Amino acid sequence: MRLVVPPRWTLRQGTLSLHWLHRFFQLTPYIGEGAKLGRLRYQAHSWKAALVACPLMLASCRLSEIMDSEDVWLSLKPSEPLPSQCCGSGCKPCIYDIYQKELEKWEEAKAKKDRSLLNRKKQQSSNSELTPETFTAFIISSVNQLTEDSYQYTFELPGNSSLGLSLGQHIVLRGLVNGLEVQRAYTPITPVNTEGYFEVLIKCYETGRMSQYVKTWKEGDKVFWRGPFGGFPYTANQYGELFMLASGTGLAPMLPIIQYITGNEDDETFVTLVGCFKTFENIYMKSLLQEQARFWNIRTFYVLSQERSLENLPWSFQGNTHIGRINENMIRSMMDTCRKQPFVLICGSVTFSEDMERHLKAIGLGEESYFVF
Ligand SMILES: Cc1cc2nc3c(=O)[nH]c(=O)nc-3n(C[C@H](O)[C@H](O)[C@H](O)COP(=O)(O)OP(=O)(O)OC[C@H]3O[C@@H](n4cnc5c(N)ncnc54)[C@H](O)[C@@H]3O)c2cc1C
Repeated sequence: MRLVVPPRWTLRQGTLSLHWLHRFFQLTPYIGEGAKLGRLRYQAHSWKAALVACPLMLASCRLSEIMDSEDVWLSLKPSEPLPSQCCGSGCKPCIYDIYQKELEKWEEAKAKKDRSLLNRKKQQSSNSELTPETFTAFIISSVNQLTEDSYQYTFELPGNSSLGLSLGQHIVLRGLVNGLEVQRAYTPITPVNTEGYFEVLIKCYETGRMSQYVKTWKEGDKVFWRGPFGGFPYTANQYGELFMLASGTGLAPMLPIIQYITGNEDDETFVTLVGCFKTFENIYMKSLLQEQARFWNIRTFYVLSQERSLENLPWSFQGNTHIGRINENMIRSMMDTCRKQPFVLICGSVTFSEDMERHLKAIGLGEESYFVF
């Protein structure tokens, strides 16, 4: 029997009409979307092509069925962050706000069966501007080990741009640790108007999650930050004297404030910095602190909890260093020598901050007289 294929691609009576097959393919805009075959608009131009297309069409239908299955959508669902992933700094949006947004986006994409909606706004930007919602990549230009476990990292800023932080603001770092995203807060130590780079001082803890990631950093690495958050609202001459209680890396927000004051000759605010460290070796940024202490309105004290004697210290540090843990009496005697009514700034671990608040209250200072970073 001879097979006759008429112009409209119709098979002989009683068999499948290629005309309708052709129409079907025209109505099937995506073939093998999941298999990344792209937007192949298939048209049956020949009898042979139709025979090849048949299994393809079935595979395509099967594939889009699989791609829209509950299991595939569940695998694309954002995971709720664990408390250990959060930086705990109260930043806005925090990791949970971002998760909520991602979840809403996923729900919309699922309802519309449109995976492209999931990529609508990426959480990562190649634009060098810092934003609170989106992580931006910055390149490490130098790594400087300060103590056994602390490092000063310098990050490049394009051209002569500045990070755009105001005093006391921090930024949030993203790290991937054992397959889990972790976010932590860090406070740049560079003066707020620094152009072309910014620096952070990071102490790495033996069992710290982010610390594991930070320890791997080397020059040239790309690191992701978002921000800025927080901050200490300050205007020149707003306070007579700033009395800074800083422990360890709690020194970080104090450094830009001191340099902001010394960099503005109209600002006559006195500053007393009390830096608490374990040993003399653990004092960060000694030369910068010594240099700042040469300004007429800046003075520094050190409290070293694990040094045994002042005699072991360089002569230039002996006069302004106390051995032991900082306590109420020490704070009171240092405050007694303040030249103007002090406003207190506190930064350190949670325990340190709580201890300092307790001491200040015992001395008679109310909550309006201090600020905790
Ligand atoms: C607003 C803000 C600004 C900050 N700025 C800086 C900064 O400029 N430089 C800096 O180094 N850190 C800064 N921190 C602390 C930093 O965000 C991390 O908490 C720190 O790096 C530890 O993170 P991790 O993931 O390595 O440790 P985690 O996994 O969170 O903690 C694991 C363990 O590490 C130890 N550990 C962690 N943090 C401390 C601590 N503070 N004191 C004692 N033991 C601790 C504990 O043993 C803890 O159980 C800042 C925190 C806040 C909230």
